[in-house]
This record gives sequence, C-alpha cells and structure tokens, in this order.
Amino acid sequence: MIKKDVIIIGAGASGMMCAIESGKRDRTVLVLDHADKIGKKIRISGGGKCNFTNINIHPANFISNNPHFCKSALSRFGPRGFIALLEKHGIKYEEREVGQLFCAGSAEEIIRMLEKESNDAGVEIILNCHIIEVKKEDSFIVSTDNGIFQSGSLVIATGALSYPQIGASGIGHDIAKQFGLKVTELKPALVPFIFSRKDMAIFSELSGISINGAIKCNKMEFRGSILFTHRGLSGPAILQISSYWKEGETIVIDLLPGTDIFGIFIERQLNKSKIDMHNLLSEFLPSRLAKIWCASNIKSKPVNQYNEKELKNIAHQIHNWEIKPNTTEDFKTAEATLGGIDTDELSSKTMGSKKVEGLYFTGEVIDVTGQLGGYNLHWAWASGFVAGQYA
Ligand SMILES: Cc1cc2nc3c(=O)[nH]c(=O)nc-3n(C[C@H](O)[C@H](O)[C@H](O)COP(=O)(O)OP(=O)(O)OC[C@H]3O[C@@H](n4cnc5c(N)ncnc54)[C@H](O)[C@@H]3O)c2cc1C
Repeated sequence: MIKKDVIIIGAGASGMMCAIESGKRDRTVLVLDHADKIGKKIRISGGGKCNFTNINIHPANFISNNPHFCKSALSRFGPRGFIALLEKHGIKYEEREVGQLFCAGSAEEIIRMLEKESNDAGVEIILNCHIIEVKKEDSFIVSTDNGIFQSGSLVIATGALSYPQIGASGIGHDIAKQFGLKVTELKPALVPFIFSRKDMAIFSELSGISINGAIKCNKMEFRGSILFTHRGLSGPAILQISSYWKEGETIVIDLLPGTDIFGIFIERQLNKSKIDMHNLLSEFLPSRLAKIWCASNIKSKPVNQYNEKELKNIAHQIHNWEIKPNTTEDFKTAEATLGGIDTDELSSKTMGSKKVEGLYFTGEVIDVTGQLGGYNLHWAWASGFVAGQYA
C-alpha cells in the first residue's frame, strides 16, 4: 500500500489548485482521476478560452443555502491571486464584459500552468484511475484499479453532475453521504429552458434568432443575449436566470429593455402612421420574432387603429413577456450544478468536514454555485487554495 500525506480525488480546477498549495507545504500529495487528462472542463470552458475569473467577484455572485460560506475563501484568494499565477507563467489574458477575464490564447495554457506548478510542488498524478472504495480506519484508504493508497488527509475535488460526457460523476456526493454528511438537492444550473408543448409549437420556428433582452425571475434580473432554440430558450441571460428558476415558475422577458416603445407608438400615431403593429415592431426586433410574437400575444393591426389603453397594454407586454418553461435541459447541457455538500457540514475556513477529521471538499461538489462570468472557476481556485493550506 502506497502512503501519502494527502490524496486528492479529482484533477480538475479545484483539485489541482489544492494539490499545488498542499505540495508547496512539503506534504506528499497524490491526485487520482478517472479521466485520461487533467482539467477536462477547464479545456472546454469559455469556448476554449477559459473565463477563469471575474475581477468584480462578490459573494452575491454565488448561490448557496448559506450565502456567507464562500466569503472566507474568496477574501483569502481573490482574482488577483490567480492573475498573479498567470503572469508568473507569462499567460496573456483579456477582459471582456463586466470584468470577465479570458485567456487571450487558449485554456490549454492554464492546464499547462497547473501541470508545471504541480510538478514543481512534487505532486504525483495518476490518471485513468477508477475509484473502487473509500474508507477510513486510522487513516483514509482509497482502493482503485491502480492500487490501494493510504493518506491522513483526503480531498474530494470531483466536481458535480454537469457534463457527464467528459467525466463528471456523483462520486463526491456519494462519498459525503457514506461519511454521514448531508447533501442538498442537486439541480442543473446555467442551463437552457425547454418550452411548454404549446409554446414549442409556436416559437420553435424562431430557432437561431437572438435578441438583447432582460429577464426577471425571483427578484433577479439579467440583461444580455437571449437565443431561441428549437426546444426553448438559451443564451447568457437565460443561463443566468435558470439558476434562480424553480419548476412551475414564470420568467418575465423584456424584449426591448431601455426602449420607450409606448412613446414610439404614440409618436407614430401623431405622425398618422398606418404601419401594422408587427411591421413597426420589426424595426426593433427580428421580423420573424415580431410577427410570431404579435400573432400569439396581440391582434396586429395598423397602429393608428389602437386606442391609448391598448397601446399601453402592448408596450407593457413587450416589456413583460411572460413565459412558463416546462423544464430545463438536463445535466448534459448544464454548465454547473446547483446544490452539493451542505455547507453546514464544512468549515468555511478550511473546507474540512466538521464531522470527519482529515476529510475535505473543494469546488463544485460543495453547495456553492456561481453565476456565469468566471465565478465557478474562481470558486474552484479559491476553495482549492484554502483547502491546500490545511489538507
Ligand atoms: C461547457 C462548460 C463551460 C464552462 N465554462 C466556464 C467558464 O468559462 N468559467 C467558469 O468560471 N466556469 C465555467 N464552467 C464551470 C467550471 O468548469 C466548473 O465549475 C469547474 O471546473 C469546477 O471545478 P471542480 O474542480 O470542482 O470540478 P471539475 O473541474 O469538474 O473537476 C472534477 C474532476 O474530478 C474527476 N472525477 C469525477 N468523477 C470521478 C470519479 N468517479 N473518479 C475519479 N475522478 C473523478 C473529473 O474527471 C474531473 O477531472 C464551465 C462548465 C462547462 C460544463
């Protein structure tokens, strides 16, 4: 049996960060992963450019049963910590909207950086390694198809359920439960919506059209691109709101945020315009959307034939279009997982279990989910960093 100070299951973002930090403390560290490469999610993140952090990071960007849990890790390892690491390795990055930082080259550079740092810290990594059993006697015993390993500290950095096609699994939640730790309800997050059957019949022909809109649900509002798909709605603003939406709820879409469409209607009436409503709306929205939206929501007629109350009502509907999605796509298309190891079970300072000495959890497996914009990877870096100071 091979003995190490620390075994980390999962060579993703948080596991690698934890391994580097723990290794730097002269701990002997072994990382086990069933995948054939490290950091497979990092590689595909941000469209291959990896939106690795957000310079405006704030605890309010995270969803958890305990919104305070993420604070300690974020304050000890903020965006500057990760940027410093990139700069040390000469990796160029660029800022896109609202503080999102992406690699100027490719996500692959971050993976190479993690490999180099872990190598320098003396970390050993075994890939294609399938976990058979984890148990604790005096220390942790991890049985795998590559041998049996023993350690005083065990870090579960196995991520969560999104993107099973590249190796995501529920093993982290299962190990938590095995040790008597609570796991909160798991749901797809940052995920497209699927229309109700009725709306799908009406709107599926809009597939491929996108608009810049605003979406509200459960007191949250996001502005950005909304994309019609053949089954429902996607795009950054939709993915954002999906994390706050619950089955059966209605989302409210402002098709023309910041545009005083009622004022425009009145102006056209004053100019004695006889333009049909759907043609008028086509000046502001893709014409197919304007036509189908009018057909399903209002009676389109020349603008001079509406009274003021009717125009007010149409303007209200355009700014408050209500859609009741049937559901969301599943974990296969979700960029993240809502829920995870109940934060009541963990120390927010160390990521260590309060019940099981030496057992740590990092990253997405914990009930902390970031909004879109570099927050999920930052949580992985920050939680991995702090766990690496103690594991
Ligand atoms: C398509 C996509 C794009 C994304 N883009 C971004 C982005 O641009 N910015 C951002 O902030 N976030 C992004 N995310 C989210 C982000 O990638 C994750 O939140 C983050 O990688 C989680 O880090 P982690 O260390 O917790 O888990 P992961 O990075 O998922 O790592 C978990 C590791 O555990 C291994 N593992 C799992 N099960 C087992 C098992 N049974 N046995 C052994 N090993 C196992 C996996 O192979 C993997 O290597 C994206 C996610 C997806 C799916």
